[in-house]
Amino acid sequence: MISQRASKIAFSSTVKINQKARELRAAGVDVLDLSVGEPDFHTPEFIKHAAKKAIDNNCTKYTAVAGLPEMRKSIVAHFSEIYGVDYKTDEVMVSNGVKHALFNFFMAAIDPGDEVIIPAPYWVSYPEQVKMAEGKSVFVQTTPENDFLLQPDDLEKAITSKTKALVICNPSNPTGTMYTPQQLEQLGRICVEHKIIIVADEIYSRLVYGEDNFKSVAALGEEIKKQTMIFNGVSKSYAMTGWRIGFALGNSEVIAAMTKIQSHNSSNASTVSQMAAKAALEGSSAELLAMRGHFEERGKFVAKRLNGINGIKCIEPHGGFSLFPNIESYYGKQLNGTVIRGSVDFAEFLLEKARVAVVPGEAFGKDGFVRISFATSKEILETAMDRFEQAVS
Ligand code: PLP
Repeated sequence: MISQRASKIAFSSTVKINQKARELRAAGVDVLDLSVGEPDFHTPEFIKHAAKKAIDNNCTKYTAVAGLPEMRKSIVAHFSEIYGVDYKTDEVMVSNGVKHALFNFFMAAIDPGDEVIIPAPYWVSYPEQVKMAEGKSVFVQTTPENDFLLQPDDLEKAITSKTKALVICNPSNPTGTMYTPQQLEQLGRICVEHKIIIVADEIYSRLVYGEDNFKSVAALGEEIKKQTMIFNGVSKSYAMTGWRIGFALGNSEVIAAMTKIQSHNSSNASTVSQMAAKAALEGSSAELLAMRGHFEERGKFVAKRLNGINGIKCIEPHGGFSLFPNIESYYGKQLNGTVIRGSVDFAEFLLEKARVAVVPGEAFGKDGFVRISFATSKEILETAMDRFEQAVS
């Protein structure tokens, strides 16, 4: 009954581990879930209010497939104000989350056999979406010594005559690291030279910490902008994961092709959610900044605790809400009767013995690491770190 296409697709491993943690919790086991990729905060009141008002005003019908004209205008204004990049409304579309926007892109731009370069570790959906579009993912490994950032030489080596696109997730999920504008520009120049589309997933662009300054790939000059498709949305920055609103910005022909695909797979994103997202983009950033402050404090706290555990090494977060500590020193060791042979064993060991759920690095194409999300309360993080430390000590 199942198509070959579906058989080849892996179920999202982050969703899988999250489900396992939920099941254990439902069975009465006190699991601390550090596998989730969503803010623990609620959507700010003014955004919920805008949605309620939209319902009362009967904004409940279909909209244009690419989104309400006023929503697209609002996205254009937002990108100009926050990132200093100018788009026209026909260069913008709204989808059911960034995941859907990316899917539309791969379906619109990738022909069978086209290669998409994906730096590893990567966010889990890129390779599966490329596979669904019958493209070929070309993984390029990065290292913690380089903050898991793609090196220009490694990019050059991976390019072939079939290379169509390069995915850049900045700031990165799962590593929490971020490119400087200079590093991005080096990659951008190579893509311009080889006419490679840059798929810039910038969903964590407003959750950036410390001295770091985020610069959108599209702000690196006209040449690079022309070659770039930007993906962003409201899920993470405005605690709006369930509203399902994401945007794509870039070449109007690509946007038109993506819109055509969306017209047959979902039509417009929820009208009420579009109105809520519009309010988020147009409203005050105070709550976003407050949430960012909490994330920063939590991320630094968890990185410090992890680095205090014998054998664990972790880079401090620059953006987003995940950390990617190295746990390789535990390989070959017996922990409470279990021999740790890889990141899956380590994550299972933590779940069983410490009742802490994390995602094995293998799911992101990089064994030797686990992903820890710090998008949960300080109390939970403190207890989770205590349990983690006790379990491995
Ligand atoms: N891109 C990255 C890097 C993510 O981490 C996520 C969510 O986990 C998404 C895209 C999808 O976001 P959305 O909820 O808007 O579909």
